[in-house]
Amino acid sequence: MQDKILSLFEEQLQTWPLAAKGYRGLNDIRTKTFDFGAYAIKVQFNPARAVSTLAKLDAKSIEARPCFLCAANRPVEQKYIEFKGVYDILVNPFPICDKHFTIASKKHEPQTIKGRINDMLELAQAMPDFIILYNGPRAGASAPDHFHFQAGNVDFFDNQVDIFKKGLIEKQVISSHLKSVVVDEFDTLYNQLQTDEQEPMMNLFCQYKPEGWVLTVYPRKQHRPMQFFLQGKEQIMVSPGAIDMTGILIVAREEDFEKITKEDIQDIFRQVS
Ligand SMILES: [Zn+2]
Repeated sequence: MQDKILSLFEEQLQTWPLAAKGYRGLNDIRTKTFDFGAYAIKVQFNPARAVSTLAKLDAKSIEARPCFLCAANRPVEQKYIEFKGVYDILVNPFPICDKHFTIASKKHEPQTIKGRINDMLELAQAMPDFIILYNGPRAGASAPDHFHFQAGNVDFFDNQVDIFKKGLIEKQVISSHLKSVVVDEFDTLYNQLQTDEQEPMMNLFCQYKPEGWVLTVYPRKQHRPMQFFLQGKEQIMVSPGAIDMTGILIVAREEDFEKITKEDIQDIFRQVS
C-alpha cells in the first residue's frame, strides 16, 4: 500500500504543476527554534499555507464555496488511491511536510471522528513511514464539512510528537498492539472530554510502530488565539491545527515570523491547548 502511495506522490509531482510548485516551495521555508529547556518549539514560515491559515470557517462561508475535497470539484490533474473503498488518498498541493497527503471520504459528509478511529489505525498500519493526523471540525480542519484525515512523513516531525511539553501543550497518549484497546480507550477519553452535544475539540496523531499503535490526543480549548483577531502590529496570524500542537507552529506571514516571541508562543498555547 505504502509503495503505491509513494508512487502516486512521485507521479503527481511530474504531472500536476500546482503540486510540483507546492513541494518546490518547501525549499524556501524558514524555521526558528525557541528553547523551552526540556523541549523546543519551532516556528515555521510557510507562505503557501496562507489559504488555510486565513480561511473563513463560519458556516455561511463554508456553504458558499465549492468543496475542494469533493471529487467533482478537484483539479483534473489530481489523482487518488482508494482506501477501504471509503477514502481517496490525495497528494496535498499546499504541503507543510515533505510528503503530505489528504485522505478524504468519498462522500461529502461532516468532519467527525466518532466511529472512525479504527480507520485511522488501519491507515497508520498501511502507511508506517507516515503519521496520520486529524483536525476536529472546530480545531483546525479547513474543510469541516467534508471528512478527511491527513498524513505526513514521520521524519518531518523530528520526534516532536513524542516529546512531552509539560506546562505548555497538554496531550494524552494511548498505545497498544491491540486495535480494540486503542479504540476503547479513545472512546473513554472522548466521553470524558465531551462537555456538550458537539465533538470535543481535539487534534489527533496516530503512528504505527513496531510495538503497536500510538495515538496522541491533544485536547483543545479553542481554535484560534485572540492574537489572530487583533489589528495592525498586535495581530499574529496563527491558526493552530494538529501539526502546530506537536510544537511546530506554522505562520503564513513573514512579519509574524519576524516578530513572534517566546512569550507570544506561551500565550498562544495557553489559550488553545
Ligand atoms: Zn465535499
